[in-house]
Amino acid sequence: MSQHTPAGVQVRSTRDEAQAALSLDEAIVRGLAGDGGLYVPTAIPPLPDNWRDAQSLADMAETVLAAWWGDDAHEVAPLLRDALPFDTPLKPLSGDRYLLELFHGPTLSFKDVGARSMARLMGRLLRRDQKRAIVLVATSGDTGSAVADGFAGIPGVDVVLLYPKGLVSDVQERQLIVERPDVTPLAIEGDFDACQRLVKQAFQDPELATLGLTSANSINVGRLLPQMLYYLWGVLQLERLGETTPPVIVVPSGNLGNLTAGLVAWRAGMPASGFHAAHNANRHFSDVLAGVTDPLQPPPTVATLSNAMDVGAPSNLERVLDKDLNVMGGHLTASVTGDAQTTARMRLTYEQDGELVCPHTAVGLEGWEQARQARPEWNGLPAMILATAHPAKFPAAVKHATGVGEVSSAALDALLDQPTRVTTLPPDFEALKRTVVAVAGSHRAV
Ligand SMILES: *Cc1c(COP(=O)(O)O)cnc(C)c1O
Repeated sequence: MSQHTPAGVQVRSTRDEAQAALSLDEAIVRGLAGDGGLYVPTAIPPLPDNWRDAQSLADMAETVLAAWWGDDAHEVAPLLRDALPFDTPLKPLSGDRYLLELFHGPTLSFKDVGARSMARLMGRLLRRDQKRAIVLVATSGDTGSAVADGFAGIPGVDVVLLYPKGLVSDVQERQLIVERPDVTPLAIEGDFDACQRLVKQAFQDPELATLGLTSANSINVGRLLPQMLYYLWGVLQLERLGETTPPVIVVPSGNLGNLTAGLVAWRAGMPASGFHAAHNANRHFSDVLAGVTDPLQPPPTVATLSNAMDVGAPSNLERVLDKDLNVMGGHLTASVTGDAQTTARMRLTYEQDGELVCPHTAVGLEGWEQARQARPEWNGLPAMILATAHPAKFPAAVKHATGVGEVSSAALDALLDQPTRVTTLPPDFEALKRTVVAVAGSHRAV
């Protein structure tokens, strides 16, 4: 199975019939395949025998992912170690449930893992090719702050961040606009769609094309693959607690990137009894699994309380359905949870376990209850539920559900003291273009 060449793992596009292979580094540079498909590994290296020796998430990176880069592993390992200085601890709840807390990174969501890793992987390639890049992102949620933080201070990279002025929460805005080296936050006087339109237009502009624009998109393999590490670290922690049965892993899902990373870890040999994709009202994947809808006919996006999972058409669906990752022999199920059930689950979790959880994590906890009812053979198995964001990012939802008005987080408190900087722009392409050109110009010799 393993194809561990000196050049490292090869990838192919999900849509390429000829299955032409290219290197992981090349796929990180390209992001999306030329045929519109997504890159997946041609073969997944089995976990090395010593993966259970890891003592931290960073150890796991060095042990597992280094093998993916072949002869370049010695260059990549320290970058991943630098990207992952925080823990993803496993917290036992009642009823054989365990929360895998993925929110101890600097911007308090699991997206820190992928964004910080990808920033360093991309920085290495820019250095190698002596190039600069401008990461351009439109954001309404956790992605923007994770990308801004992850890429800040990486030599050769500028970040330009667009968000809808007045339409993100106070906590989110504060995370977006703290001063960071080479990061330019733009408050756009329009909605999220206006921000996305501007970014799309920028990528089609011939003049801007010469400046090395890139999207740091969540479909990039450089963001995706490092996410397999916390699955392994979570399962290892579970084993160290004396749990001998492999868990069912519950993933609060939107674009299905997180789930894809879990499936890659499973294919590499991680013990798991199954996977469950827990969705909010955006139910496309659940309907696809149930065979009641065409994968190519996704419904429009529905706005919910767990807004980072408000995705009508999951971009990683194509990967999950790919022949090499497809685990539909009954090991993978999905559920749909509405806002009322989400709030009720937040309240119940606080009452039963004394634990404040964010709305996304609550969708996971509620999804697990549905999953074990739908599949009696999963009853009695331990469940590892991914806690994807810190509750302090969603104070209004927490207060509404539990009555608790104060959710503390040292990382957020530290942000309060830092200076902020933001530019307000009309939703006008020429204004954005001038800004991007100025950002690029600030690095050219005068
Ligand atoms: C992005 C996000 C998700 C969804 O993850 P996908 O990889 O898009 O499925 C879930 N929870 C939180 C808090 C997120 O930020």
